[in-house]
Amino acid sequence: MNRARLLVFNAALNTLDYRVPEGMSVVPGSVVVAPLGPRQIVGIVWEAERLPSEPVPDAKLRPLLEVVPVPPLRTELRRLIEWTADYYCAPMSAVARMVLSSGGAIRGPATMTEYRLTGGMPERMTPQRERAMERLEGEQATIRELAEMAGVSDGVLRGLVNQGVLEPVVVDIDRPYPRAQADHAEPILSADQTEVADELVKAVEAQEFAPILLDGVTGSGKTETYFEPMAAALRMDRQVLVLLPEIALTEAFLRRFEDRFGAAPIVWHSSLKSTERRRAWRAIGSGEAQVVVGARSALFLPYANLGLIVVDEAHEISFKQDDGVRYNARDVAVMRGHFEKIPVVLASATPALESLQMAESGTYRKLELPSRFGGAQMPDIQLLDLTREQPERGKWLAPRLTELLTDRLEKGEQSLLFLNRRGYAPLTLCRNCGYRFQCPNCSAWLVEHRFTQRLACHHCGHDTAPPETCPDCGEPDCMVACGPGVERIADEVKELLPEARVALVTSDTLGSPERAAEFVAQAEGGAIDIIVGTQLVTKGFHFPELTLVGVVDADLGLEGGDLRAAERTYQQVAQVAGRAGRGAKPGEVIIQTRHPDAPVIAALEAGDRDAFYAAETDARRHAGAPPFGRWAAIIVSSEEEIEARDAARMIGDRRPKLPDISILGPAPAPMALLRGRYRYRLLITARRSANLQAAIRDWLGPLDFPRGVRVSVDIDPYSFV
Ligand code: ADP
Ligand code: ZN
Repeated sequence: MNRARLLVFNAALNTLDYRVPEGMSVVPGSVVVAPLGPRQIVGIVWEAERLPSEPVPDAKLRPLLEVVPVPPLRTELRRLIEWTADYYCAPMSAVARMVLSSGGAIRGPATMTEYRLTGGMPERMTPQRERAMERLEGEQATIRELAEMAGVSDGVLRGLVNQGVLEPVVVDIDRPYPRAQADHAEPILSADQTEVADELVKAVEAQEFAPILLDGVTGSGKTETYFEPMAAALRMDRQVLVLLPEIALTEAFLRRFEDRFGAAPIVWHSSLKSTERRRAWRAIGSGEAQVVVGARSALFLPYANLGLIVVDEAHEISFKQDDGVRYNARDVAVMRGHFEKIPVVLASATPALESLQMAESGTYRKLELPSRFGGAQMPDIQLLDLTREQPERGKWLAPRLTELLTDRLEKGEQSLLFLNRRGYAPLTLCRNCGYRFQCPNCSAWLVEHRFTQRLACHHCGHDTAPPETCPDCGEPDCMVACGPGVERIADEVKELLPEARVALVTSDTLGSPERAAEFVAQAEGGAIDIIVGTQLVTKGFHFPELTLVGVVDADLGLEGGDLRAAERTYQQVAQVAGRAGRGAKPGEVIIQTRHPDAPVIAALEAGDRDAFYAAETDARRHAGAPPFGRWAAIIVSSEEEIEARDAARMIGDRRPKLPDISILGPAPAPMALLRGRYRYRLLITARRSANLQAAIRDWLGPLDFPRGVRVSVDIDPYSFV
């Protein structure tokens, strides 16, 4: 090959042709460096016939500069990149960028200098130096990373290096990882678990594509069960990828993994240090990495020899990415399994309706774990009708629930209160004039956080100190909090039971893996009586002493009523209910609601999952909604309101007229202003038979927009705001 077509990481260019100089050898998938004007760019060599481009005569081609010494991206992964770009209407370069997600991995030396404290003192102490030394105790990282951790400038740290307070340490970035052992501590599985595990092991050994829904009730031991096919893959020297929806869950998983396999797996998420990123990336590419546990971005890594993918809590909507390439990691995981010819296990106690439907139609195989491990019973679920049993004025917990909380505290058992709303109150207004505090960048109220004493926007991160007087009428001390958030519930509990040890669990308090680990240790050690938390506490955790779960407001998720409102409510409440009674003592669940007759609430009370899913499936089928029809959204935004509206109108005016596709909108988005951008939406609904992506490409492809306008396509949307 003396010509090479590259996929380059620039959406505007996408593909460029080069000459392969004498003595250099490249194959499809090779990662190379090429000249572009005065700059150098990185690209991936691609099969020219799969990547159309303007013809360029040989004489005009510039030569490639070098081949990066990493394994070429395998054909399976190149096909996945193509599929993902095509299905989600995204530039191939944007998808490929997720594969080469560690710039450090392909460049630079294999050693790197990190710094750590020596224990020495500087000649002159400043508040900044003091702070840095305090915060960097026990840390070792690059200057830039340390500066970030300590919240000081690089300069402050360089000063400390000169003073001998920080010392350089040369680390081998690519040092090997400890090996996991398939037979380190094999558990004794129950009969049900054994049956399912055997099937999963067979699927791994078959080395064929097999999408499998592992449908097991909460506490059935899905993790122990899918550890067996992971062990099988290890024995065959093949890699395993486990996708988890939330970093907060990773810690508990790591511990269980280490108990079972004798070494920690490789963790992949967005807050890894650059050296850890490079080390993991290279080990994954060389095949040395055995098991990778990660957030959705781990899906696109260049595994040398993948043997199994597990998506745990596969129903979770955090697998859907809502910026950049808007993909659903659960669905792309199945496609990766297809290209790699390996099994993909989707594990959940409350599968997505889409996944259940796939099982129903025979596309996915379904394996079930119908009962809890170790004889634990499913909890008893009762509704509490808030229209009949009212909490006291200004309170949110009804007497029956507070009595049960008191009872559990007396017995020394744990309780969990769930409300999916961060902060103290979702709305703050002026008692005098009714002024409402609103985000300047978003169509959203500011949420009061008493914990941090801020008013914060949950959409853009804007936050301010609460003012002492009303910005509108000038009245002092006039602010009233409206409605509850978890912080307010925690206050109510502390007032009711001052002796109780209350833990507030939200992404504000449990943002890092370390904090999550601390919380789990405290809860397991019996140092917490009552947990008050958001959706973060609904899944994954296993606290045997937890016997009471209170759902503060089951109706919350039903407001707004998007496509999946009922399904999401069902999943959330069933998952949080599933935290109760996982040990020897039976669990009890109280669901506070104003709509006890709503089908989803009634199904929760009856514990009748099948009835709920059947009714929901029927409703979707009648509406032609996913998975029976195909939906896509187009979101048009600009910092200029008029520009956004005009662009949206232009798109609307050019809509194609196709028999099996209908187009709604444009209309101002429910979040008409988000992060300072004005937004319009169109919703496209199509029959399954329609080629939705082609229709969208033909429609939007020829249109030109002003520079400030952003048009994004969201295939199978989860967010409708
Ligand atoms: P799920 O994810 O299905 O809700 P888990 O995997 O968290 O359930 O299992 C529930 C609890 O039961 C965990 O503490 C787990 O360690 C334990 N467990 C499950 N299966 C076994 C087994 N075969 N041997 C020992 N402990 C088990
Ligand atoms: Zn905002």
